[in-house]
Amino acid sequence: MPENMTLRTGTLYVVATPIGNLEDITLRAIRILGEVDMIAAEDTRHTRKLLSHLGISKPLLSYYKDKEVSRGEQILDHLRNGEDIALVSDAGTPAISDPGYIITKMAHDTGIRVEPIPGPSALTTALSVAGIAAGTFLFLGFLPARSAARRRFLKTIIHLPYSCVFYESPQRLATCLRDCLEILGDRPIFWGRELTKVHEESRTSTLALLAAETATRRIKGESVIIIQGKEESEEVPPDDLEELLSWYKKKTDLSLKDAVRKVAGDLGLPRSAVYKKALTIWKS
Ligand code: SAM
Repeated sequence: MPENMTLRTGTLYVVATPIGNLEDITLRAIRILGEVDMIAAEDTRHTRKLLSHLGISKPLLSYYKDKEVSRGEQILDHLRNGEDIALVSDAGTPAISDPGYIITKMAHDTGIRVEPIPGPSALTTALSVAGIAAGTFLFLGFLPARSAARRRFLKTIIHLPYSCVFYESPQRLATCLRDCLEILGDRPIFWGRELTKVHEESRTSTLALLAAETATRRIKGESVIIIQGKEESEEVPPDDLEELLSWYKKKTDLSLKDAVRKVAGDLGLPRSAVYKKALTIWKS
């Protein structure tokens, strides 16, 4: 190569693919997948099916969670050599609860152009039909898999006025909804299962009704849940130990024992310490 010639670096295209229905792919996504030199895919077998449906044949490189850095280096080498690469995940938009953020960061850090090719995501698909106010919402991805950690996490969002969106697998749906009900209290909820697929099912309901239904029914397929945030007008309990105990005493009909359990849980304090303080407040 002549000395004064610099090699053009390639572009990393982050391409959204369908979350079920294969018709849900943009014209631009089809064009880019057909034009790039290589496609980095979460599961190459899965992506090969999509490509064969689109009549596209391209070299594939597997790019999945446990190899995000090493495969990322490989992808960067191709990009530095001037090749254009498309990144896809199994379904929806890469980097949304899927591999993607590490390679896009590596590309940005190296000065490589990253272009979005937007399209479906289970997140926006569910929000678009939920009938739940989501002017401001929180996307939580997957909640912690173990119940104790999940309940601890849910306690951190009890008082937030934002609708919360999360993904859940069929195996954990019932226990997850039970934990949500116990920690967040009954609230309006949207449940979308197998969205855009043949067995699509969606429901606006309440946490109590849906938790009861899923406790006795075998659920298949992946789900998106949207739980309405805490009503803004509802009073937010204080977060200081003494004030919170007084608040429970004044505003609820909880017994001293139940208030101690609740406050210890809310504030993450040992029950013995809360009990000692509660005694002084309940006596006064
Ligand atoms: N990147 C994807 C996106 O943009 O939505 C999400 C990938 S994440 C690994 C997969 C989860 O998304 C599933 O477990 C499920 O909770 C949700 N999901 C994906 N497709 C769905 C569908 N068709 N209906 C309902 N939920 C879906």
